Amino acid sequence: MKKLFTIVSMTLIIPALTSCGGGPKGDMPWIVDRFDDIKVIRYEVPGFDALPLEEKELIYYLSEAAKCGRDILFDQNCPVNLPVRRTLETVYENYKGDRTTAEWKALEKYLKKVWFANGIHHHYSNDKFVPEFTEGYLLDAIETIPEEKFGSLNSLRGEVCRAIFDPALYPTKLNQKAGDDLLLTSSSNYYHNVSQAEAEAFYADMAAADAGNPEPVSYGLNSQLTKDDAGRICERVWKLGGMYSPAIERIVYWLEKAQAVAKEPQKTNIAALVSYYKTGDLKEFDRYNIGWVKDTVSNVDFVNGFIEDYGDPLGRKASWEANVNFMDTEACHRTEVISDNAQWFEDHSPVAEAYRKPVVRGVSAKVITVAMLGGDCYPATPIGINLPNADWIRKDYGSKSVTIQNITHAYTEAAKGNGFLEEFIPDPADIELQKKYGSLGDDLHTDLHECLGHGSGQLAPGVKTDALKNYGSTLEEARADLFALYYLGDPKLAELGLVPSFDVAKAQYLRYILNGMMTQLARIQPGKDVEEAHMRNRMLIAMWCYEKGQQGGGEAVIKKVERDGKTYIEITDYEKLRGLFGDMLHEIQRIKSEGDYAAGKALVENYGVKVDQKLHDEVLARYGKLHIEPFSGFVNPVYKPVMENGEIVDVTVEYTEDYPDQMMRYSKNYSFLPSVN
Ligand code: ZN
Repeated sequence: MKKLFTIVSMTLIIPALTSCGGGPKGDMPWIVDRFDDIKVIRYEVPGFDALPLEEKELIYYLSEAAKCGRDILFDQNCPVNLPVRRTLETVYENYKGDRTTAEWKALEKYLKKVWFANGIHHHYSNDKFVPEFTEGYLLDAIETIPEEKFGSLNSLRGEVCRAIFDPALYPTKLNQKAGDDLLLTSSSNYYHNVSQAEAEAFYADMAAADAGNPEPVSYGLNSQLTKDDAGRICERVWKLGGMYSPAIERIVYWLEKAQAVAKEPQKTNIAALVSYYKTGDLKEFDRYNIGWVKDTVSNVDFVNGFIEDYGDPLGRKASWEANVNFMDTEACHRTEVISDNAQWFEDHSPVAEAYRKPVVRGVSAKVITVAMLGGDCYPATPIGINLPNADWIRKDYGSKSVTIQNITHAYTEAAKGNGFLEEFIPDPADIELQKKYGSLGDDLHTDLHECLGHGSGQLAPGVKTDALKNYGSTLEEARADLFALYYLGDPKLAELGLVPSFDVAKAQYLRYILNGMMTQLARIQPGKDVEEAHMRNRMLIAMWCYEKGQQGGGEAVIKKVERDGKTYIEITDYEKLRGLFGDMLHEIQRIKSEGDYAAGKALVENYGVKVDQKLHDEVLARYGKLHIEPFSGFVNPVYKPVMENGEIVDVTVEYTEDYPDQMMRYSKNYSFLPSVN
């Protein structure tokens, strides 16, 4: 599996309450918009002003490139997303009627949700949004606006309305139910008119033709699979002159500007990326990735391309995403220490000796400041990055792991004083521990997960990396989380000066178990089971440890207690819990190393999927009273080049743009694709 990138922070669900710093520049609030289950936060880019001019310029060009692929993601998520977004935006911009009515507010909210999810399906649950305004209302509003404002959208009106209002059409973006044809029942646009069996056969043939190649490309990563006029299966490659060409042209334009001001080795790497965009040749993408992972000297770095395959039910096709970042040198010390000791951690890991890496290599670790988010990293974004994804490149050249400090900081600031800890943690001493060490525990968990967890362990000879199929990403996230949890409680961390005491582990263990067993359920609709890989992973770990902690006599390690009709989680023995994390890591590493699909499936299905409905209702009710939106995303800063005699002499950064303004501006200035692709 190539799913090693997105980590969704626990801070998304259990915000830390450490206090440091004031609000962002001036009196700007951290939270700029709230709607439905979403809050939109502003993030700052500390250190940008102090960068040398050439790095500011480089960030500016890369940031432009990061915005140019937004339409690609919309179209990848569902073929009707662009016409829906554009129709609603045209109404939003031109409607002269009453904007205070409930129906208008509902339409506005729906559009905000579409912007946030990059389409008509929820970014996390994948379910289609249910509009709270009627088709009649929308059509009436459209009637009041001159027809020419809609241009080519007029002919798509019927399809747009069906997509929004017919619940049977495009019900889910990503269906993962075993037994269904996952392609025909998923509404994403990665496959068109192709069944799961046809797609699997197509790529099996491709892999067979390349069998024995130690450096296989990621087949199918950058294309839509469809049928030609004669009914033969074929790929439409995302490249210059191929599918999505108008957007890719603009990406290439800005990348070439960046290339001109970049220094080696980055200059050569950007050239390789441009070559890949021009040709669609996945060998070029691998060449770029190798250069990228070897470049540990450039202060400014970026991701731009078809990277993650979470959105494809078959885990093959990648969504377009981008970010631009630079080093946070102060915070880098923490991950350097971890990274320098990678071999010690590997050697002492509680997994079978045969499945430890004799030599851990290429773990580079840094903390970054994000300067721009784009595509599948916007507005919702991961707080850590671990790339590249190709297994053979990771094996031969290693990977780069980063955590994003300014995003984590913005989450923390936005969450202050929201009442979460007091509601779910009964013991004041535990609350104090959370306030003191919650944030540090989260940071270290992320570092250990990204810098060591994913890179640890090895497969038995002959075992395929995709042997765990649709359970692969859940189990991979569980493996990395368990590695982090296990070592958070290791005396080695105190010895390395990373934690003052075992209290940091205690704070993190309570948070993690509470989240996995209870509070993350706030993100799930009533009656639904857990679908998303990271959530499945957390529930799997928490419920497995809960069950195993009842066995072996003595007091249960984890207790569910009821007080005044409310459920609480109590951990009675943190050292024993750490032991359980180790046992589970041992087993999940075995499953991965041996490609034991049946055991992996049983673990996920037994512990990580089924929701206790009664507890779910309770969590939703308690969470609801706190008015905390379970999901967050971000608005980007605005960079402006300062020109003198046609030359850039400085780049300024502003944080004043609000959410709808930013979305409308992006749709105006960075929208390059036709409505139907
Ligand atoms: Zn991960």
